[in-house]
Amino acid sequence: MGKIVIAIDGYSGCGKSSTAKAVAKILGYTYIDSGAMYRAATLHFLNENLRPSKPEEAIQGLQTLSISFKINPETGLQETYLNGKNVEDEIRSMQISHRVSELATVASIRRELVAQQQRLGSGKGVVMDGRDIGSVVFPDADLKVFMTANLETRAKRRQLELLEKGQTVDLEEIKENLAGRDEVDSSRAESPLMKMSDAVEVDTSNLTFEGQVAQIVQLAKAKIEMN
Ligand code: C5P
Repeated sequence: MGKIVIAIDGYSGCGKSSTAKAVAKILGYTYIDSGAMYRAATLHFLNENLRPSKPEEAIQGLQTLSISFKINPETGLQETYLNGKNVEDEIRSMQISHRVSELATVASIRRELVAQQQRLGSGKGVVMDGRDIGSVVFPDADLKVFMTANLETRAKRRQLELLEKGQTVDLEEIKENLAGRDEVDSSRAESPLMKMSDAVEVDTSNLTFEGQVAQIVQLAKAKIEMN
């Protein structure tokens, strides 16, 4: 049975990453978190004091940007590295969440990250989540999923996630951030977030985590059998 490419897109905080990760584990596929790459790039530009919206500074920032993923042998979880340094926790902070969508509007930065994502997924047997995976990164993906959930549910889930990492953040701040990112991500000129006509919509508002994973695994298995 041939391996397939699974693209999972959707609004901020609907559980795309955790779902995609679990689906990849069940299928024995590689998981790639494209949002982590935009987040790591945002951290890099902040560290280097470069403005992504300035074309020359964007080029300069890209020249010194190297993003990779490694599995932590103790936890078995994938972690993000920026220029050789583990930045997994840092890129999940609200500071980065507030800045990332602005960087993600910049065409030259998207081009570079999309090229890297295409290379990472070129072997098939991959689950990638983001905003433009089914539209730009893998327009020929075998399975495209568009995940949604209502804002209140998404904000509460994100608040819990941050709390588990030791960060206490007000629910209203999270709601504003999620809604703001959705707005910028959906209305930008470059690769806006949109539901593709061949994507299956999965509304997770009333689904348990196990339920949403099972639904996507079922869709994937049907595609794998046809492949
Ligand atoms: O997935 P996550 O919420 O970590 O993504 C952070 C931000 O990165 C998104 O709000 C969006 O601005 C940007 N992004 C993107 N395209 C992707 C993945 C993420 O523009 N494929």
